[in-house]
Amino acid sequence: MKREHVIKPVLNHHYPTIAYGKGVFLYDDQGKAYIDGCSGAVTAGIGHGVPDIVDAMLEQANKVSFVYRSQFTSEPGEKLAEKLSDLAPGNDYWSFFVNSGSEATETAMKIAIQHWQEQGRHGKNKVISRRMSYHGITLGALSMSGHVLRRRRFIPLLEDFPVVATPYCYRCPLGKTSPNCQLACADDLATAIKRIGSEHIAAFIAEPIIGAAGGAIVPPNGYFQRIKAICEQNEILFIADEVMTGIARTGAMFAMEHYGVEPDLIALGKGMSAGYTPIAATLVKDRVMEPILKGSKSIMSGHTYSANPQSAAVSLAVLSYIEKHQLVSAAESKGQYLMGQLQQMADGILSIGDVRGQGMLLAIEFVADQTTKRPFPFGLGVTSRIIERAFQKGLLVYPAAGAVDGEGDAIIIAPPLVITEEEIDQLVGILEASIQEVIAEIT
Ligand code: PLP
Repeated sequence: MKREHVIKPVLNHHYPTIAYGKGVFLYDDQGKAYIDGCSGAVTAGIGHGVPDIVDAMLEQANKVSFVYRSQFTSEPGEKLAEKLSDLAPGNDYWSFFVNSGSEATETAMKIAIQHWQEQGRHGKNKVISRRMSYHGITLGALSMSGHVLRRRRFIPLLEDFPVVATPYCYRCPLGKTSPNCQLACADDLATAIKRIGSEHIAAFIAEPIIGAAGGAIVPPNGYFQRIKAICEQNEILFIADEVMTGIARTGAMFAMEHYGVEPDLIALGKGMSAGYTPIAATLVKDRVMEPILKGSKSIMSGHTYSANPQSAAVSLAVLSYIEKHQLVSAAESKGQYLMGQLQQMADGILSIGDVRGQGMLLAIEFVADQTTKRPFPFGLGVTSRIIERAFQKGLLVYPAAGAVDGEGDAIIIAPPLVITEEEIDQLVGILEASIQEVIAEIT
């Protein structure tokens, strides 16, 4: 057998070779078609092979692809930062460009800490996150993440940052029921701040809708408004991790718009370039930049490829495409249709405990018992079996398993926002057959 050289996620697994993509479909080199039911890793929001983006890419490459951010700025970089500020809640953000979601959240953490340092408040250097959360794979981002499986190997290297309750109404960690709970999960942040002391805390970070760490978990009404108020009362910055939810995915350009909250910092990634080139950003409110502008005037972070004009031009083209084709409202309307079809499917399957999400970020949670919500034994690998079966049948869906103390089974369904209703029907048909087959094998 030919020796391999690429380190792939699972080393003894066969990965087909991709040949090309068009719209919501990917095709391997054997000609097999796959419906991209999760936009890769909730990334390819406008679908594959869009000529407008390829044209923008070529046009910029013919001018210049790379300049170093310590030497030059570029027209696409400047325009993109202005565009993101225009689109973001409150329209008064600066952009720090990076290359991945992990860098965006970690940069947000560093800027939040620097914001306080510039005011002489050097003790404010902890970031609070939620027990079920995923903010990235680098050590700083992982320190802020509660994802048990992804942290496990690196625990000795991680900062011991505090965590608070997850707003997970299907399995409330505080044993309450919404809406009678009075948002006890949000108040858990206030309790933690009291215990730790706000003089030690720089920021609180949260995903507007939890993605990989549980599967499209939408908070109860009023949750983020309460969180923002608690942060303000305690002089703590609020970082919204919109890496998965941002740029139209949930039926709003930024998911925080659903809650009417203006975060102090926003981490963006994935949908920003819809996968065409790597680019991500940390958006920083004017008021957060102020002490830095008055103080050292420099942010101590950066990467070689930050703000490269090639990726910025692609991101601008993606944002224009989203506006031109009204993909924000498409995410809402098609998301409702997809949700309806998934709920109908779930009615006939006893092992589905919950169907949830918003816009085109939806998830299904699987349970061994619908009444007690008891999860399947993790060793059964329900999530990976369903994903593998769907893959064989030509459908891609994304795992969100093992996030609750290393337990739980859920999959994310988040197709490109350009998907048609017929393609949604096709997606749901394959998904239903895959789930039925796996459930029949294990029950
Ligand atoms: N934050 C959230 C909410 C994510 O979903 C992810 C990736 O899935 C990240 C951060 C990390 O992004 P990346 O994989 O681009 O580093």
